[in-house]
Amino acid sequence: MDDREGARGEPGLVDNMGGDDVQTTLGFLEKSVDPHELWREHFPSKVGGIAAWLEPENVPSAEDLRCRVCTFEMVFLLQVYSPLDSNHSAFHRALFVFICRTKDCSGVAALRSQLARKNKYYPEVYDPDSTEHSDALCNLCQLCGLRATKRCAKCSQAWYCSKNCQTFDWRIGHKRYCGSLENGAEEEARIRWRFEESLLVMEDEVTADDSVPEGSALPASKGTLQDAAEDELPEDSFKTADADLLEFQAKVAKDPEQVVRFGREGRVLWPFSQGKLLKSPPVCESCGGIRTLEFQVMPQLLYFLKADNYGIDFGTLAIYTCKNSCDIEGYVFEYVFRQSHGHHG
Ligand SMILES: [Zn+2]
Ligand SMILES: [Zn+2]
Ligand SMILES: [Zn+2]
Ligand SMILES: [Zn+2]
Repeated sequence: MDDREGARGEPGLVDNMGGDDVQTTLGFLEKSVDPHELWREHFPSKVGGIAAWLEPENVPSAEDLRCRVCTFEMVFLLQVYSPLDSNHSAFHRALFVFICRTKDCSGVAALRSQLARKNKYYPEVYDPDSTEHSDALCNLCQLCGLRATKRCAKCSQAWYCSKNCQTFDWRIGHKRYCGSLENGAEEEARIRWRFEESLLVMEDEVTADDSVPEGSALPASKGTLQDAAEDELPEDSFKTADADLLEFQAKVAKDPEQVVRFGREGRVLWPFSQGKLLKSPPVCESCGGIRTLEFQVMPQLLYFLKADNYGIDFGTLAIYTCKNSCDIEGYVFEYVFRQSHGHHG
């Protein structure tokens, strides 16, 4: 028997970890926006560029975001602004995802940051027209946006998080513009090195017509595969009719450009049955409380970011966060489960 039996046969573990009744919000990319919408002062959800750090003082370092698999520094992928009404210490709250760009490396990480309404960085009442802006209250790496601790010895102007970033920045443009006042081309090279920057616009998924489209062999509901006696199904249909895949395709067909699915305490829309997370995510290292799903990054994002060029591939990234969203200082790691790209058949 293939491993789908095991995967689908434990509904108590996977499918009950999150509710079906959670409203899902979809994230779509919007490229041409007023730049100020991407500033931290406007609490953006966004993809690419450098992180708009919510807590602008204790920004993570290259050491913090060293890939645990290959030890290279990871690159900012996206952030989601996700405040919690029910938690006064999370009046502002943001989650940041970093990914390793070493070819075929599986490294990925998520960080959480949150602030009370009364805090030393932002006014208590949000002003959408505010033009106040600074990237952070510490030096940031000119290339990747992490906390910078090193400076170019020649010009003393360019800040870097690591030797790797400094060496790379030198190669792509700083060598030519070091000490020069004119650095437009240098900055353009940096922008090209980062993932392309876009705002993430969130819209509720419409579920009024949640029926499975015609032509799908199996409805997406639980248990269908088990209910059918095995000998009634030809060998082939067992190999191809992946219930997760069918549900995934049906949901994606309705909103093909979705790159993020957000739904606190919801469940993951797995692209396929192989390699799902079958146990509970690890508990929060800060408070010991359980983690629940908060959002997932869809593989469509890889297409929009031309991630092929970096050798990045995944089925989905599922971000699980502390259910209590416990009080923290600065940034803490949350849990990312990376379903690798499956091989069918
Ligand atoms: Zn890596
Ligand atoms: Zn850097
Ligand atoms: Zn320099
Ligand atoms: Zn916690």
